[in-house]
Amino acid sequence: MAWHGFWTVWLRLAALMALALAGVSGPARAHDGIDDGGPVRLNLQPCIKAAVAGDRAAALLRDAAAFDCTTGQTEFGPGDYWVRLDVPGPASPAARNLRWTSLWQAGATVHVAYDDGIITRYAVPAANSGRYVHIGGYFTLPLRRDSVARTILFEVRDSGNMRGILLGPTLASSDVIAGIDTRRAALYGGFVGLCLALLAYNIMMWRAIRERYLLAYCAMVVAALAYAFTSSATLAQLVPAIDNNLRLRINYVLLAATAMAALWFVRLFFDTVAFSRRFDRALVGGMALVGATSLGFALLAPWQIGMLDTVYTLSFAAVFALGLVMFVKGWRTGGQAERLFVVAWLLPVAFNLLRMLHSLGLIAHNFWIDNATLVAMSAEALLASMVMAHRIRFMRADRDAARADEKEARLLADTDELTGLANRRALMRSACPAPAEAGQYRLILIDIDHFKAINDSAGHSAGDAVLQKVAGVIRAAMRPEVIAARIGGEEFALLFPTGNVDRRYYSSLLARIRALPPVGGQRVTISMGAANGWLGGSEGEWLALYRAADAALYEAKRTGRNRLVVAPRYRDLPEVA
Ligand code: GH3
Ligand code: MG
Ligand code: MG
Repeated sequence: MAWHGFWTVWLRLAALMALALAGVSGPARAHDGIDDGGPVRLNLQPCIKAAVAGDRAAALLRDAAAFDCTTGQTEFGPGDYWVRLDVPGPASPAARNLRWTSLWQAGATVHVAYDDGIITRYAVPAANSGRYVHIGGYFTLPLRRDSVARTILFEVRDSGNMRGILLGPTLASSDVIAGIDTRRAALYGGFVGLCLALLAYNIMMWRAIRERYLLAYCAMVVAALAYAFTSSATLAQLVPAIDNNLRLRINYVLLAATAMAALWFVRLFFDTVAFSRRFDRALVGGMALVGATSLGFALLAPWQIGMLDTVYTLSFAAVFALGLVMFVKGWRTGGQAERLFVVAWLLPVAFNLLRMLHSLGLIAHNFWIDNATLVAMSAEALLASMVMAHRIRFMRADRDAARADEKEARLLADTDELTGLANRRALMRSACPAPAEAGQYRLILIDIDHFKAINDSAGHSAGDAVLQKVAGVIRAAMRPEVIAARIGGEEFALLFPTGNVDRRYYSSLLARIRALPPVGGQRVTISMGAANGWLGGSEGEWLALYRAADAALYEAKRTGRNRLVVAPRYRDLPEVA
């Protein structure tokens, strides 16, 4: 995939994602038939008062002046608080669901003053949160249907107050809540589906190519899936009795596990890039730090909860720094796959940076921060699987090239350079056949007559040309079952299973060589010695056959050259002069 192709796919993907997000963020249209008055959503302004002994809800509901509506919530620190929400009137009777973001606290009591003067108390303990936690980790409390809420007072016990005491309080009609829940369910459902598909894809890939980074990737996907399972509150819905704070503890550990697996994966993916041992030690240190701070929070909170949370958040700065070093090095020294990989990871890194900045109180809460992990993982997952496929393409190209090289090398090793016929080495392989090919063979040795004289009269290169011409005649008469080899200076050999080849085939060689033009005033002729013998893989059998053929060749030379002599045992074969 060239850069051009990559960007085309990327743009299409971006367009698809934009469409999906447009659907997700569109106005709620679903109507459950319970509410009248259409979709209503009121964002409420929280005002804070630290709890002191003797505070009473009824009195505080009348005393708006006791609350601070301007100071940032986190500035109050951890502790017990009253949070007052005044419903701007006239409220729609449809807005009868109170919704807020789940945060660390021991529990809350919600006092609601209705239009008809009645004050109702609702207990929302952290334990047994499954009743109230909706998908995405939102608390949703259904209020009275027969009146309208005027003032709402939260009595929050042991707030961790890392991001606030009460975030995103909203009054909404049931259809709005259903719409939000449906969109979130779709988002999480899509994410889970994507993760499962990626898991299957990467496990199959691992089975095929055994690259270790694929295992790290699977570990990351599993951790992210588990994180989605707890942070989406699916866990709380399956196990309603679970304490919401335990759910948050698990979230911390699983997000850390995801980050650790991500670092491990990037390191293994960039295996081709040379990292120093010092860097690798820093990497292990960074991973240990994230793991340790998450465990610290999970085990020790609410003790020093603010400090534990900040240390945890800052340990992610180490993750970013380590990731950045690998990306920069991968970009600078890696190939195209490494660069595509860096591009694929820019989005997840950007989202998690946003999230970290939010955790540190540097930027305000928004949709993207809420769903940073989800969106980032989805984008990364799609792009990274493309990059991996890309890398596999490279591996395939390498493999094909290596195979071609090997084939060529083997051919070269078995070929005589001057004549292009097989060489002695290749002949020897056929001389020791595998058991399946054992049988009766015929060996014919060929020697050019008075070749020394040709060399002497016409020169060595003319001699070479004669060798090539003789080889050309032999090759032109080749059959698939015959091995024709140059086994020495001006000596050739033919080897083939008897019965397969008509003897006229090789006896006709004599005539064809004679027909070659004379060199240095001298006719080119050959002498041939033929013998039959059993070849079953042993060296002794080959030597016996060779000696018989060599004796026949000697006989041909002795009796005047330019002829074929068949070893005495096979005199039934006619000699052709
Ligand atoms: P005979 O008929 O008895 O075979 O005589 P001959 O001259 O062909 O035999 P001899 O073995 O005495 O000489 C072979 C010569 O072949 C000697 C050597 O210089 C020459 N020769 C060996 N290899 C090559 C080669 O690759 N190129 C050339 N041009 N000559 C070679
Ligand atoms: Mg010779
Ligand atoms: Mg010779």
